Amino acid sequence: MCDLARDMNPAMRVVEKRNFSLMHLVTRVHWENNRSNAMNQTTQQPVKCARCYQPVEKPIYRTIQFIGFDGMRKRSMRESLPFCSDEHASHEQMSREG
Ligand SMILES: [Zn+2]
Repeated sequence: MCDLARDMNPAMRVVEKRNFSLMHLVTRVHWENNRSNAMNQTTQQPVKCARCYQPVEKPIYRTIQFIGFDGMRKRSMRESLPFCSDEHASHEQMSREG
């Protein structure tokens, strides 16, 4: 019994040490992520919804088809635009179709 207890203790200590360094690593990764996110925010303009012009944190891109002019000729064109919601994407599509 005594021998077993003596053998267990060093093993426990090793596990604790490993956990600590893992925690340390995770904390560091979080810090690195936060730092790069903050840097992106200062350099990037927020994307605005093509329908309501509100800044969108996570825009969804939809291909909008519309009739454009290629010189003097009417032509069906398409454009990928950011939207805040599917609803606004379909509103924009409907308004372009006239
Ligand atoms: Zn919108």
